Amino acid sequence: MPELVHDGAVIVGDAAGLVLNNGVHLEGTNMAVESGFHAGKAVAEAASGARRDDAALTQYREDLTDSFVVRNLERYDWLMETVQSDREFLFEELPRAVADAGSEYFQMDRAPKEEHASAARQRLLEAVGGYTGAAKLAFRYRNLI
Ligand SMILES: Cc1cc2nc3c(=O)[nH]c(=O)nc-3n(C[C@H](O)[C@H](O)[C@H](O)COP(=O)(O)OP(=O)(O)OC[C@H]3O[C@@H](n4cnc5c(N)ncnc54)[C@H](O)[C@@H]3O)c2cc1C
Repeated sequence: MPELVHDGAVIVGDAAGLVLNNGVHLEGTNMAVESGFHAGKAVAEAASGARRDDAALTQYREDLTDSFVVRNLERYDWLMETVQSDREFLFEELPRAVADAGSEYFQMDRAPKEEHASAARQRLLEAVGGYTGAAKLAFRYRNLI
């Protein structure tokens, strides 16, 4: 989030980075409304004292920090960082492995299904680094799981 409170201005909604778009949640309208509500209260309060300086508007930052908006964003801080560092794996290698495994699993030829199922499982395990890799991944994303 940028600095939310300035001399004569407050920043709300998307402009303040108040969006959750992380593969689990896609929301921002609610945060825009909530931040607008708190900003409006702070502005009205400052205006009633004929003030517009940042010190008179800090209530907005405090109210927003206590609200679900900042608490929800903080809850997913770790996820954004983790996804960033697993970018290649999550958006390239894993989807490719899932697609390959699907093709293998549903293939119709003279091989019995169990062979295809085993090859599909093998393909997925390769992608995640075997059972140990899968366990490490599960641990990394345990808060989601
Ligand atoms: C594809 C997509 C899907 C989404 N799905 C969801 C969802 O399912 N649920 C959810 O809660 N949120 C969703 N969001 C997020 C949500 O749309 C935003 O978080 C929300 O609209 C932010 O509101 P806002 O008022 O901060 O900004 P905006 O809605 O972007 O409003 C800003 C306004 O300012 C105007 N503007 C910009 N510059 C100027 C200027 N110089 N002068 C005058 N006007 C200007 C723009 O034209 C715009 O109308 C989605 C967003 C996208 C892009």
